[in-house]
Amino acid sequence: MGGAEQQYVKEAFDTNWIAPVGPHITAFEQKLSEISLNYNIAALSSGTAAIHLALILLDINHGDDVICSSFTFSASVNPIKYLGANPILIDSEADSWNMCPELLEVAIKEGISANKKPKAIIMVHLYGMPAKMDQIMHIANSYDISVIEDAAEALGSTYNNQPLGTFGDLGIYSFNGNKIITTSGGGALVCEDKEMIEKARFLATQARDKAPHYEHSVIGYNYRISNVSAAIGLGQLEVLDKRVMQKRKINEYYKKELSSIKEISFLEENEGSFSNYWLTTILLDESSTIDREQLRLHLEKDNIEARPLWKPMYLQPIFKDCKSYINGVSENLFKSGLCLPSGTNLTEQELERIVKKIKELYEA
Ligand SMILES: *Cc1c(COP(=O)(O)O)cnc(C)c1O
Repeated sequence: MGGAEQQYVKEAFDTNWIAPVGPHITAFEQKLSEISLNYNIAALSSGTAAIHLALILLDINHGDDVICSSFTFSASVNPIKYLGANPILIDSEADSWNMCPELLEVAIKEGISANKKPKAIIMVHLYGMPAKMDQIMHIANSYDISVIEDAAEALGSTYNNQPLGTFGDLGIYSFNGNKIITTSGGGALVCEDKEMIEKARFLATQARDKAPHYEHSVIGYNYRISNVSAAIGLGQLEVLDKRVMQKRKINEYYKKELSSIKEISFLEENEGSFSNYWLTTILLDESSTIDREQLRLHLEKDNIEARPLWKPMYLQPIFKDCKSYINGVSENLFKSGLCLPSGTNLTEQELERIVKKIKELYEA
């Protein structure tokens, strides 16, 4: 927590706004909007809920094809299944680790020639690293396909100085406990179009029609954020810039201290990219004599938790039958990549200890 959260939560209690409605939600949406090109925002109960609503707003129905990044957390893909639609999974490119624009175009072309044009694209900015937005938007626009930007891990990142989440037709953020800022649990939908966001708020609050009694003409959801969570979010937004700076400093530290180990490389920013470096990730060289599990277990023995990178969705039992476009990039990332401890509460001594442990293995 940054400091002001408790004050905002106290305000919520003092004014008795303990509900999925209240002044802190409005203020949180306003503040988020200010850092998102003044686009419209619907604050929701989770990032997953935001993706689900984004697909509903784009009129995704049973049997539709929806393209999605394969190298991601399952929450990017699950909402496609909630709607009975078919995920089409696209592998990563080597330099950003995000959706490969070439494979994306192949998938679209094949869909069109099979008379089944994909209805939407969910593309992810993993670990806070921007995807190649100019290429992806160019492709999406030239085939007239809507884009949902999953920026759950990428609040505070930019591409050509534009905030991630504002490139696509719709963007989503997550404020889950593990993200760069948190409301304990929460998310948001971002859209330039005010009507879309008003519709999202309507759907997120059980789709209640205007009437003195309870009247419903469409299916609704209980997806609004609570006013108490939004109060936490207000405090967290005040420290977002600081968090990004801290994350970038942690990344810089690892990069500098581990530069002598030739078998280890880092995920680097491309031209125009500015990453929040939510997590610092490393990739072990194919020729490395030490594999990912050896390094992970070596750290674990000393009570240092490092985690494998996301396991690609096309390799997950639940999505193995989905159509996928694969080039081997994410399979290798999963096999040889690791997330290093990246919490902004890490002390200098702790960082030193982690780096020392890693070096120990390579210098032995
Ligand atoms: C965390 C995350 C989500 C889901 O957000 P929740 O708020 O946890 O529902 C979606 N996509 C990615 C890439 C994430 O990391």
